[in-house]
Amino acid sequence: MNYLRPGDALLIVDVQNDFLPGGTLAIPRSQDVIPALRRYLELFLDANFPIFATRDWHPPDHCSFYPRGGPWPTHCVAQTYGAQFPSELQLPSSTIVISKGTDPVQEAYSGFQGSPLHERLRASGVTRLLIGGLATDYCVLETVKDARLLGYEVYLLVDAIQAVNVVPEDGPRAEEAMVSAGAVPLRWEQLAA
Ligand SMILES: [Zn+2]
Repeated sequence: MNYLRPGDALLIVDVQNDFLPGGTLAIPRSQDVIPALRRYLELFLDANFPIFATRDWHPPDHCSFYPRGGPWPTHCVAQTYGAQFPSELQLPSSTIVISKGTDPVQEAYSGFQGSPLHERLRASGVTRLLIGGLATDYCVLETVKDARLLGYEVYLLVDAIQAVNVVPEDGPRAEEAMVSAGAVPLRWEQLAA
C-alpha cells in the first residue's frame, strides 16, 4: 500500500489521558504514539477521508477495576479528565467518536464490542482500516481481530502503537497474532512513498 483510496478510514484506538504518562493506567512510552498518529491524521484530513476514534468510557464501578476484582486500576471513567483525548492529539471536530466499555459488567477491549462502530463504518462506506493507538496487546489487538472477522482490510500502523507488556514480549506476540489474522504491518515511510 502506498496510497489512500476512497473507502479508507483511520481508526485510532483509546488514546486517552489515563493511558498516557501521569494517567492512572499509564502505558510505557505511550506518548510516542501522538506525533506518529498526528502524521496519519493530517494525511486523512487532507484527503477528506473519515477518522474514527474509540475510547474506553467506563462507569465508576466497572468490572475491570481493582475494587471490583478486575485486573486494572480505575481508568477512563466517563466524563472525567482521564477519559478525554489528549489535547496534543488534536483530533479534528469531524472525528467520529465511539465509546465502549460502558456496561458495568462487561469488559470491552475491542472497539467493535457492544458499540456502533461496525454500523458507522459501513454507513461511511469504509472497507479498509488503518489502525493505531493503545495498547498493542489489548485493545488494538482485539479491535484488529474483530475488524478482520468482519471482513475489513486492515493495515496495522506499527509505528503508532505501544504495548502494556504485563508479560515481556506481549507486544511482539500481539503483533504476530494480528498479522496471522491478516493485518498488514504498515509504516509511515511505506505510505508516503
Ligand atoms: Zn478499560
